Amino acid sequence: MTSDRLEGVRRELRRARSSGRIHGAYAFCGELGTGKREIALWFARLLLCRSTQEDPCGSCRSCRILATEAADPVHPDLQIVRPDGAFIRVEQIRMLQRGLSLVSNERGHRVVLIFEADRLRVEAANALLKTLEEPPDATTLVLVAERSNALLSTVRSRTTLVRFAPEAAARLIELLLADGLSEEAAWLAAEIGGGSHGAAREWADLNLEPALEMCEFLARVQEASVSEILDFAESFRGPTEKSRPRTELLLSVFDAVARRAAEAAADKRNHPGLVGWLDRIEAAASSRRELQRRNLNPQILVENLLLDLKEA
Ligand SMILES: [Zn+2]
Repeated sequence: MTSDRLEGVRRELRRARSSGRIHGAYAFCGELGTGKREIALWFARLLLCRSTQEDPCGSCRSCRILATEAADPVHPDLQIVRPDGAFIRVEQIRMLQRGLSLVSNERGHRVVLIFEADRLRVEAANALLKTLEEPPDATTLVLVAERSNALLSTVRSRTTLVRFAPEAAARLIELLLADGLSEEAAWLAAEIGGGSHGAAREWADLNLEPALEMCEFLARVQEASVSEILDFAESFRGPTEKSRPRTELLLSVFDAVARRAAEAAADKRNHPGLVGWLDRIEAAASSRRELQRRNLNPQILVENLLLDLKEA
């Protein structure tokens, strides 16, 4: 099953291609995990495909080059720009423009993907304006950004905006259940994994197993003995750098569980229960900030979080 939300965007882009009305510059904007990057890569494959099929054919020379799973596929008519450090610098835009001034290698369409375009430095954005306004023939630029209002208005006005809304949670869970995930797993992946089917699936592939174990432990923490809790926290021991990803995962699971409990308390008009869960959500959020800011001991962080939950 594919996502209706992204399928709608694909349909629009297919229509533009088949009617020969592809714009020179697009801005794909939406929150993290809404599928804009996935669609940008698909659109690049579509524009570079030698067949006239509705989707990239998968067998022409261009599709074969782009079939790799690499984050930055190497294709003579595809240029990818992303921040070099914290920003996209003016030198990167100048280099892109020098590349575009050469003739197309494959003598077909050319595509430029600019990822994290909200990190274009002002000088870089200004340097890009002319290219956005008058792209070379058969060239399409796609700027991918989280927030359209983080783009300069002069950049925004020269691009066709395509918005990526997060998948509604209920719909996302439905898609994940159809993939064969259990109810608890689908709920977790939808809550933590992100706003698109692809992002949630990717999250599940990497994190589902430990996340479900954590979820199961959190569900019975009130009945667990103190020594069981200390044993569980012991598994977060070690240098912060090493145990940080696992600790962050636990904080995400904790947050999801606490939000669900807060909603249940609100439904039952259990005011003290609701306040308690909201406090715990805030405590987990501040633990996360502390963990990112300094070398907080993850084992102690987990102990405190769980012992507090046991007391609840
Ligand atoms: Zn093809």
